[in-house]
Amino acid sequence: MKSREIHLKSRPQGVPRPENFSLAEVEIPPPGDGEILVRNEWISVDPYMRGRMNDGNSYVPGFELGSPMEGGCVGTVVESKNPSFKAGDLVLSNMGWREAWKSDGAGVQKITPTVTDARSFLGILGMPGMTAWFGLLKIGELKPNSQVFVSAASGAVGSVVCQIAKIMGCRVVGSSGSDRKIAWLKEQAGIDDAFNYHEVDDVSAKLAELFPEGIDLYFDNVGGDHLEGAIEHMAVHGRIVCCGMISGYNAEDPPPGPRNLFKIIGKRIRMEGFIVSDHPDAQGEFLQQMSGWISDGKIHWEETVAEGLENAPAAFIGLFEGDKMGKALVKV
Ligand code: NDP
Repeated sequence: MKSREIHLKSRPQGVPRPENFSLAEVEIPPPGDGEILVRNEWISVDPYMRGRMNDGNSYVPGFELGSPMEGGCVGTVVESKNPSFKAGDLVLSNMGWREAWKSDGAGVQKITPTVTDARSFLGILGMPGMTAWFGLLKIGELKPNSQVFVSAASGAVGSVVCQIAKIMGCRVVGSSGSDRKIAWLKEQAGIDDAFNYHEVDDVSAKLAELFPEGIDLYFDNVGGDHLEGAIEHMAVHGRIVCCGMISGYNAEDPPPGPRNLFKIIGKRIRMEGFIVSDHPDAQGEFLQQMSGWISDGKIHWEETVAEGLENAPAAFIGLFEGDKMGKALVKV
């Protein structure tokens, strides 16, 4: 079988560009004993992939030049010589930006969509949804009625954080980058307030206005001025869940740290980073709780779909331009 793949051609300096990627056609031999052949239907583009495009390791090994971009994908088994799989099975894997692939089945998970479509295993029921759930409830240990601030609030992770916090009876304020996203946060996600940070001169001053009693929990997806502003307006004993700091991912020089970091001492703030893939044992509990909320109509989400594998690089670059709503996916 012939398959097309997107390879990492060169390492980006700053914001990734189309010329950092190449489209290759490869021949995939038939599966041997113990192997499966899978045709991808959906692939995920995620901000963490930017770190893997750099030379050297971050918390996971970097992508190799001339090799396919790895990442979450959902596909269908077309041929199986592995007793654990049969043709027609829907599978979730990390095989990434390719039309088809062969595997011995290691790291490949069968999925059975019940409350949503298969592609949701890359979004609301997948890594981003679990990041929101795990970060907010297990790392942040969110308490009912808290004052919660969420940055990148309309994105794949942030939109779910906002809605779980509302289910917990909290007052939730989000920041995002366009008026369309702000309207969605207020009208669909049902949060209490939201602001477009492009229209705000000073994030810290805006947070002072929005949180007169202080922030109990800040879910940080952005870093930079959002983190500095949140530290300034945290309540005593507040918690900061460090999920991501996308404002610095394309920085060519190390971005400055929050100038007010010392305030975490006087305010007795607990700041904790986490990586969702460290916690596979929590997946069962996450799927059960999130599926329940979805069935009850308590969680809403948006997807922005790019058509065709060749458009995966543009969909990925779009993550840093803020032009998509909700989870960014590619339909292969
Ligand atoms: P999103 O769906 O939120 O997409 C990224 C969004 O970030 C953009 O749409 C844009 O929205 C916003 N953004 C981009 N550049 C900037 C900037 N310079 N300043 C402020 N906002 C910016 O992505 P995810 O929901 O998948 O990921 C959100 C965060 O969570 C990321 O930082 C990611 O790395 C992190 N993450 C961490 C995980 C973990 O295990 N710790 C796992 C998964 C994700 P807008 O229009 O609002 O600006």
